[in-house]
Amino acid sequence: MNAPTAPWVQLNWDALVANLQRVRALAPRAKVLAVIKANAYGHGLIRVAQTLHEADGFAVARVEEGIALRRAGILQRIAVLQGFGDREQLKAHQTYRLEPVIHSVHQIDLLEAEGESHQSLRVWLKLDTGMHRLGVDAAAFPSALARLQRRLGAKAVALMTHLARADELEVSDTGDQLALFDRMTYKLTLEKNIANSAAVLAWPESHRDWVRPGLMLYGVSPFPDRPGPQLNLTPVMTFKSRLIAVKFLSPGASVGYGATWTARRPSRLGLVAAGYGDGYPREVPSGTLVLIDGHRVPLVGRVSMDVLSVDITDFPQVGVGSEATLWGEGLPVEVIAQKAETIPYTLMCRVAARVPMIEVQANYGARENRL
Ligand SMILES: *Cc1c(COP(=O)(O)O)cnc(C)c1O
Repeated sequence: MNAPTAPWVQLNWDALVANLQRVRALAPRAKVLAVIKANAYGHGLIRVAQTLHEADGFAVARVEEGIALRRAGILQRIAVLQGFGDREQLKAHQTYRLEPVIHSVHQIDLLEAEGESHQSLRVWLKLDTGMHRLGVDAAAFPSALARLQRRLGAKAVALMTHLARADELEVSDTGDQLALFDRMTYKLTLEKNIANSAAVLAWPESHRDWVRPGLMLYGVSPFPDRPGPQLNLTPVMTFKSRLIAVKFLSPGASVGYGATWTARRPSRLGLVAAGYGDGYPREVPSGTLVLIDGHRVPLVGRVSMDVLSVDITDFPQVGVGSEATLWGEGLPVEVIAQKAETIPYTLMCRVAARVPMIEVQANYGARENRL
């Protein structure tokens, strides 16, 4: 590959497979419903599903994502976290053998209003145990379950809930949510599914017939103070670019919009071809780390749409053409997210469409496939 002058994203599929194995090691008795909503957290829905062929099932947010997986030949069970909102979407679930999450009673009304039978439909009934987002509350749960079982068959309903604060180890909310879930479901011999990534890692008592991780499959940690590599996770996505120019600044000269950073010494700056137009967050301050040919250097001044500046004064050997890592291998996205006062999920989801994705499979040496 010629040295590109625009950013690219490198996707390490071996890391994805290794992270799934890490989930299995942490939850050895559970099946894994791999969460691949939002284009697999920006990694590419179909390729991620194909690479995770050993997952027991997949979860997406919307019915269109489920249809795309079926059309691509994915055969595992597919849960649709938002389920159906009208008859047409309900029909699509049946046609494509998708399993809707039933999160509110109006979906059951819709189901019952359909004249025909839904004998082949399997659903996940979601109990709201305290997150107060999607989910049927405890008072409505028994009748919701009875209606679904009457309509679909006793074994066609699986149970789930979602944890609001599983990434916070010192609060009691997770224990409370698990206790309510158990109080409502302990008599029921139906499949159960609770744990997101944080719970897979930190709340083994939440591992049931299934676990339901997203973030950690991509090698990223849900805990701000413990990046993925510390948890034996390997980042799948590495966001890269190159230096396209070098500039010398005298002491007192500033760089970028708003002149927010001023040189204190004779400085050598590198201009990296990447900006917020590519999905790098504009919110990060001067001092945020960038790797240039593996050296940790500080970003200086404001991030602009197509370019950002780094201080390479201490590394005279780097220059135009040097490789920049903005996050990923060697520089966890968690670190950049914290600097941007956001979470790693948003950074991965927001990589711009203009940034090409390049697949890397270590098994095949340096082979790279442009998507
Ligand atoms: C996104 C999502 C998950 C996965 O959460 P991670 O923190 O990425 O592991 C699990 N369950 C539901 C309902 C979700 O919306």
